[in-house]
Amino acid sequence: MIYIKNLRYIFTILLIVLSFHLAAKDERVITLEEGKAHYIIEVMKHITWPNDSKISEFKIVILSKDGNLLAAFNKRDNNMVRGKSIAIQQVEYLDNITHNVDVIVVGTSKLPDISKVNQNYSNALIISDGDVDKQNLMVGLLTSRKEIKLTINRENVISRGFDISNSLLDFAGTKDDLVNQLTDKDNDLNQLLYEVKSKEDRLTQLNQSLERNKQHLQQVLLNLSKQNNQLLKAHRQLATVNEQLAAQQTSKEEITSELTTHKNSLLAQQQLMTEKEVEHKQQQQKLTTLNQAIAANEAKLNQQIIKLEQQSETIEHKEQKINQQRTLLYISTAVALVILLLIFLVLRINIKRKQTNRKLYDLATTDGMTKLFNRRHFLALAQRELDQLHRTKCIAVVLMIDIDHFKKINDSYGHAAGDQAIINVANILQDNLRDYDIVGRVGGEEFAMFLPSCEINIATQIAERIRTKAEDLTTVFQQASIKLTVSIGLTARLEEENNIDNLLQRADKALYQAKNSGRNIVVVL
Ligand code: GH3
Ligand code: MG
Ligand code: MG
Repeated sequence: MIYIKNLRYIFTILLIVLSFHLAAKDERVITLEEGKAHYIIEVMKHITWPNDSKISEFKIVILSKDGNLLAAFNKRDNNMVRGKSIAIQQVEYLDNITHNVDVIVVGTSKLPDISKVNQNYSNALIISDGDVDKQNLMVGLLTSRKEIKLTINRENVISRGFDISNSLLDFAGTKDDLVNQLTDKDNDLNQLLYEVKSKEDRLTQLNQSLERNKQHLQQVLLNLSKQNNQLLKAHRQLATVNEQLAAQQTSKEEITSELTTHKNSLLAQQQLMTEKEVEHKQQQQKLTTLNQAIAANEAKLNQQIIKLEQQSETIEHKEQKINQQRTLLYISTAVALVILLLIFLVLRINIKRKQTNRKLYDLATTDGMTKLFNRRHFLALAQRELDQLHRTKCIAVVLMIDIDHFKKINDSYGHAAGDQAIINVANILQDNLRDYDIVGRVGGEEFAMFLPSCEINIATQIAERIRTKAEDLTTVFQQASIKLTVSIGLTARLEEENNIDNLLQRADKALYQAKNSGRNIVVVL
């Protein structure tokens, strides 16, 4: 019974594989991995998971070293199982699986891990790629003879609550039918496989031919490329040669242009040289003329030099004369200075002499203590005045003044105090003089005054004023206040009286009378 069930599964799967091959026959040759992917999807369509209603997306994990099967899944247009999408992941190790898994496809290289996979993932549908062992074989499929081998452990499927669809289960039929169908299908399959194989061979041949053609074409292309490179190289060389030619042409034109320019320049220079030669000749002629002029000028110059030398000699003579004159001038200046100095000295001496004479004169005519005229000079001046009065017949008065009891003053206050009293009385007389009056000290404490052109009454008033002032005078000497009085005798000139001595004698007589009359009075005689 189990065998029949197995056959039914095998037959169903064979049908799936056949449909796969038929589909592939019309369109293209599919790869082994694409066949496996197709088979896995078709099987999943006929199996219901215990929690099928909760699955919104089937998660398939491919435990394999390579990604060929994953690539085959991704290559498919429609990975849907009963309206649910499929997410596929490929891992190399079991530990890399990080989420719930609905299907695990164990690759050939990972078959030694199959027991571990069964143990760890008890809710997943486990599909092994290739034979496991005969005991565990639930479904063994040959999709293209022995090229595709996928195995599902039936016991596991049942024990884990998977439900295999009736269509899949019913599809197998009876044992004989199955055997016949299997035989027919197997024959058809073999035939188809044979055709596929033939086409594959043909395809291989075509591929080989194509490959050869391709290689040939590549060779041709290679040759063409080489030739093209050579052509390009030749073309570049040609371009370079052309550029060089163009450059040479340009260079030639430039050289020609330069040559023309040089030629023109040369012609211009030749013309210039000709002009210069003419100019040179003219300049030579000018030079000759100039040389002649220079020679003439040199002759003139020589004459002028001779003249200059002569003038120089003359100048030297003049300079000598000037030096002599300068020396004379210095000497005369010095002499003039000496003379001026002498004149200055003479003048100084003269002034000194005059001053000396004046002093001598003053000493001879003036009383040193009272600064009044001394007796002799008074008499001389008075006599001279009297002589002039005689010619004009004018009047004149003579006064004799004597300090009363002067001896007492000397005795009481000392001789120096007496001197000061004499000076004070003299000042009173001096203060009462007119410009033309003459006064002199004629004795120790006696004074005489000559008043020309003066009336006797005027003279008496003057004498009275002198007396009063002497009376009022206080001579202060060394804390002593000295009082004194004077007696005055006066007399007028008589007509025709020309001798001063007579006048003085009469005035003295009047003074004597004043003394005798009690002193401090004025007596007119
Ligand atoms: P009086 O004339 O009133 O009769 O009395 P007296 O005392 O003035 O008499 P007298 O004329 O004889 O004396 C004059 C005195 O004056 C005598 C002399 O010592 C003094 N004497 C004369 N000359 C100077 C002088 O220069 N200085 C002084 N201090 N005394 C003089
Ligand atoms: Mg006296
Ligand atoms: Mg006297």
